[in-house]
Amino acid sequence: MDMNSGYQHYYHSSMASSYDGSIDFEFQTTVFVFEIRTNFLLVKRTLDHDEDYEEQIMGSENLSATLRVPADQLDDWLERLHGDDFSHITYRLKEYLMPGDEIQSLIHEVFDFAQEIMAVDPSIPVVPIVVDVGVCTVQLDGETLDHAIDRSVRPDCLIPLPLLRPEWKKNDSFRPINDYLLYGLPRIGVEDEGFGAHMETCSICLGGPTAAAPMSLLPCNHAFHRHCVVKWMLKSWTCPLCRHEIAHDILKEAMKGTNKDITFLL
Ligand SMILES: [Zn+2]
Ligand SMILES: [Zn+2]
Repeated sequence: MDMNSGYQHYYHSSMASSYDGSIDFEFQTTVFVFEIRTNFLLVKRTLDHDEDYEEQIMGSENLSATLRVPADQLDDWLERLHGDDFSHITYRLKEYLMPGDEIQSLIHEVFDFAQEIMAVDPSIPVVPIVVDVGVCTVQLDGETLDHAIDRSVRPDCLIPLPLLRPEWKKNDSFRPINDYLLYGLPRIGVEDEGFGAHMETCSICLGGPTAAAPMSLLPCNHAFHRHCVVKWMLKSWTCPLCRHEIAHDILKEAMKGTNKDITFLL
């Protein structure tokens, strides 16, 4: 793993000993229930030894996806794993700053694991799979602890989980208004050109730009952390700085886009 990037991820799949949720059974389908259990860790350098690290838990969250596979379509799994059922999970993994190839490896590993279980007992109606994911922000050599905490990936810097709904579908004409707002917001990452010019400080949380918190530029040209402005917009549809009516502009853009091939913020 690359310690220099300042972020590390690990994951491990296992089968849950039991499943206590409720499932509607359909004839001749296998139901796969994937639960992603994420721990957010801050990996601190200890003062005494350069090579020693100490872990601090910054939070945790669970998200899940359910996949129904007709018994005669097991070969199509992989394709399905990339589809709508998983779009909220891949979106979240990107928010964890997990590189694209690692996201693909995680999905492949989970898929392989599910296949192994099916090979042992193809008659299991519900296969509950737990994927433990660790998202580590690693304090860099010479970096202050405050700075590392500031750029750490943690739940309060991500889009609120209830906004990431698995049932969201591309052509759903009854999409809740929040989905339009969310996906109509432009995103700018720290790596994007001219980033500094847009936002020195987010006036909602008073924090600065960091890799773990991309920002969004509103139609009035005011920028905020994405997670901050999304939370703000759940309560108010005007710009926190200039009171410009943002919802109207964003909705108009979003409605225009519905005829195009849109993927859910991927
Ligand atoms: Zn902010
Ligand atoms: Zn504004």
